[in-house]
Amino acid sequence: MSLGNPYKAQNTPPQVVIVGGGCGGIETARALRDTPVQVILLDRVNHYLFQALLYQVAGGMLDAGDIAFPIREVLQKQKNVFVAQAEVTGVDKEKRCVYVSRRKHPVYYDYLILATGAQGSYFGHDEWAKFAPGLKTLRDGISLRSKILRAFERAELQENPESRPELFTFVLVGAGPTGCEMAGALAEMVRHTLKSDFRRFDPGLTRIILVDAAPRVLPSFSPDLSEKACIRLEKMGVEVRLGHAIEEIDAEGVIIGGERIRSLNVLWMAGVKASPAGQWLGVETDRAGRVKVAPDLTVPGYPEIFVVGDTALVIGKDGKPLPGVAQVAMQGGGYAGRTISGRVTGQSPLPPFKYFDKGNLATIGRNYAILESGKLKLAGFMANLVWALIHIYFLLQKEDRFVVFFKWAFNYITQRRSSRIIEEPVMCGNTLDDTKEK
Ligand SMILES: Cc1cc2nc3c(=O)[nH]c(=O)nc-3n(C[C@H](O)[C@H](O)[C@H](O)COP(=O)(O)OP(=O)(O)OC[C@H]3O[C@@H](n4cnc5c(N)ncnc54)[C@H](O)[C@@H]3O)c2cc1C
Repeated sequence: MSLGNPYKAQNTPPQVVIVGGGCGGIETARALRDTPVQVILLDRVNHYLFQALLYQVAGGMLDAGDIAFPIREVLQKQKNVFVAQAEVTGVDKEKRCVYVSRRKHPVYYDYLILATGAQGSYFGHDEWAKFAPGLKTLRDGISLRSKILRAFERAELQENPESRPELFTFVLVGAGPTGCEMAGALAEMVRHTLKSDFRRFDPGLTRIILVDAAPRVLPSFSPDLSEKACIRLEKMGVEVRLGHAIEEIDAEGVIIGGERIRSLNVLWMAGVKASPAGQWLGVETDRAGRVKVAPDLTVPGYPEIFVVGDTALVIGKDGKPLPGVAQVAMQGGGYAGRTISGRVTGQSPLPPFKYFDKGNLATIGRNYAILESGKLKLAGFMANLVWALIHIYFLLQKEDRFVVFFKWAFNYITQRRSSRIIEEPVMCGNTLDDTKEK
């Protein structure tokens, strides 16, 4: 295998470099299982992350290890894959190599798959990031959990907690699936799990405000299901404020529709933009930074470079861009792998990539979900059951499926949360900050 040597020995198998070990990258590698190629998978972290359950880590229902698995272990049995933890910083399309941070020699490829996903976006207001942390990586999930739990610890230490509602007012920005799922999880946590844990502070006083500029929650669902989800959230005590964009986020809270909402707990559940793969390639992207790919997911003019998943702009049969969801990334990754396999083994080319939409799901609290698949629409417990089965099924490691299943069963029956650890110790001025107490 020639990681850094451009003068590859003859008769060595073609080298396929996959950047990103998320949904798209893993599926590409798997599709090349029986193909005579050498796969090199590079990721800046050593784990595959099941992002759909990240809000459950933030909400104290699951541990980080329940939804993240070492990429090495996931691909352990696939002998033609070499995995390396490395951050890619650029691509040279002409020399056919990728540059990796802290590594002098580039990594050469015969085929390249860029599956580097998306990253958080504050719509041009990066200064908001320090006041409103987002939820994208495992680290985000763990620190959000600490932030949420620490808010209640602080409230408990106040002589008169009611006088400082900003301590236990949560503002969630973004009413897409992540915002709604997080709001539901938080509402259940304060109304049930934490109910009896505090002596001075009643967690039931917690205000959860979900805001979005859009006119309805979960806009990727049909309006009637959005409406049902919104009613459910409100029943759970979530204040839903729609139709107003955030004007400001600062140390005191947010300004929305001209109104100041004082909150020390603003959580950013909105906006993503593509990874910088488009910049590395120097090719056309859309406003979100997604690479405009050809119908076979290759970069126009470069049939050996594929871009898949959240970082690619793929137009669906309705003429609209495909959504940034796991199914699109997985199907795109599988397609890229099969295309390479066909080329290497001399088969005729595959037809253009076609996305098969299996449907859309979102859960609101532990008993309720909405599901839309073709003409089928479901809301309530049955949809929640389907949601749970599908998410369990898509967890990569079999043993983790059992752990997650038992934790969910435990949480469901007892309404407790098994993962309520604040990892950092209390620092000076951190938890016991009574300087602003009235
Ligand atoms: C909180 C949250 C909840 C979600 N919920 C759902 C859901 O319920 N259902 C659904 O279908 N989708 C959901 N999604 C979206 C879904 O997770 C993504 O669409 C999917 O993961 C995209 O796959 P991908 O392969 O493009 O990118 P990812 O799965 O994000 O993988 C990208 C990989 O690239 C690596 N990487 C990035 N840059 C570099 C670099 N420079 N060098 C090396 N490695 C790099 C990253 O470490 C990562 O491992 C959710 C996303 C989030 C953030």
